Amino acid sequence: MKHLKLTHTLALLCLILFAGCSKNTPENPAVKGELVKEYPETAVITGENFDRQQLIRIALENMKNSYAPYSNFNVSAAVVMGSGKIYTGVNVENSSYGATICAERTAITHAIASGEKKILGIAIVGGMNQNVSDYCAPCGVCRQVMREFCNPKDMHVIIAKSETDYKDFTLEELLPESFGPESLN
Ligand SMILES: [Zn+2]
Repeated sequence: MKHLKLTHTLALLCLILFAGCSKNTPENPAVKGELVKEYPETAVITGENFDRQQLIRIALENMKNSYAPYSNFNVSAAVVMGSGKIYTGVNVENSSYGATICAERTAITHAIASGEKKILGIAIVGGMNQNVSDYCAPCGVCRQVMREFCNPKDMHVIIAKSETDYKDFTLEELLPESFGPESLN
């Protein structure tokens, strides 16, 4: 009887834990790097034609995960890769300050760690206390990291205040005369 009670207790505990895990499953498929938009089968997704508004929307939705307890400046980025999949990233600050990493680089490392090779575009949003009141341009280090995984002439950087209010640059415009992988050949 005692053994039976223990089994029941364990089963109940597992059920509670399982239910807890399911609750934490991200609702936004982009967080998992899944395809969130079906482009026509014949269409080739490029830096020119990817859906700007969708990418901005995903960045805005994920901004709540920004970890910025020291500056309170929250940043979020969503990157669309050659496969058509979208990956998200946020700034992650650290009490040592120097170990802080930007949203753009967490999005890019998220994509590369998932097997992606080429960036088509990135959308960036940011502001104090989750409030996007101005355009948030990428820092120089992030521009260089983007350069590693794209052709700067046809990779687009979108800095946005909202889904409809944004600026669209090629990486070449933001990082002219750049140093990249071909420079070592
Ligand atoms: Zn940066």
